[in-house]
Amino acid sequence: MLLIDGADAPYWNGLADGALMLPRCEACGTWLWPASDRCGSCGSIQVAWIERAMTGTIFSWTRTWHRFGFTEALDLPFVSIVATVDDCDIRLLGRLDDPDQLDPQIGEAISGRIGSTRVENRDIPTIIWSRNA
Ligand SMILES: [Zn+2]
Repeated sequence: MLLIDGADAPYWNGLADGALMLPRCEACGTWLWPASDRCGSCGSIQVAWIERAMTGTIFSWTRTWHRFGFTEALDLPFVSIVATVDDCDIRLLGRLDDPDQLDPQIGEAISGRIGSTRVENRDIPTIIWSRNA
């Protein structure tokens, strides 16, 4: 478990424990992202964290060729993905497992696993997406 707090702590702690946990309003069923302690649709404070499968589709992507802050541990180039998680409206940032360096396609089906990215002296949980075969 990571030692973090805030509305999205269950997300980060879930990844650290091997599960994708996402928040949903128990009153109206709206998925809440960014995470919040109160539903923006109905105002309820009844928020449930629900384990989701790491499957989705590519919403957007970019390939990074030049290093910038906090990417020192990554091999260049690397592909960042914004993925829409299946069966909810939540979009998450992650990295694409990109051995062949073929351009991803918007809407392409992908599956995720939990890895980590070394940032300074910490390992940050990271979703690593792969193309579905
Ligand atoms: Zn609600």
